[in-house]
Amino acid sequence: MRRLCRCGQEMNFGFRLVMFENKFQIDRVPIFECDSCDFYEVLPFVKPDLLDLLNQLKQQDVKGRVYFTEVNELADVLYELFRKWTKADSVLFEAMLEQHCEERINLLLDLYGCAQKMNDENWMKEIASRLATLSKFVKERQFMGAK
Ligand SMILES: [Zn+2]
Repeated sequence: MRRLCRCGQEMNFGFRLVMFENKFQIDRVPIFECDSCDFYEVLPFVKPDLLDLLNQLKQQDVKGRVYFTEVNELADVLYELFRKWTKADSVLFEAMLEQHCEERINLLLDLYGCAQKMNDENWMKEIASRLATLSKFVKERQFMGAK
């Protein structure tokens, strides 16, 4: 999870509360931040999902705090891992991330099987969309790794 800041420093991975227009609060958003210039940016991979969520909040006029980890499967896996992780181990973090994603994908596939048996279409749809976020991420990483 390495990324360089526009000032040339290496940025840290973490989570933060992001405010939009001074009223919409989305917490536990995965970000990169720079210690030397205070710049931060949302993890590029989840940015479109974050903006989708913001649009939903605007439409429904939800003003309370919302947790991004509750609506985004990848953010949830990252957050779970981040809480157990010590900063010295960024290589380990990478390796564990893949493992955690795969475990979560397997779990969701099992759930999908249950939903299918019960013929619960809404549940199937929900699981499918949670799966889509994760498998897209895993595929993109493998693609980048293969270069
Ligand atoms: Zn910087």
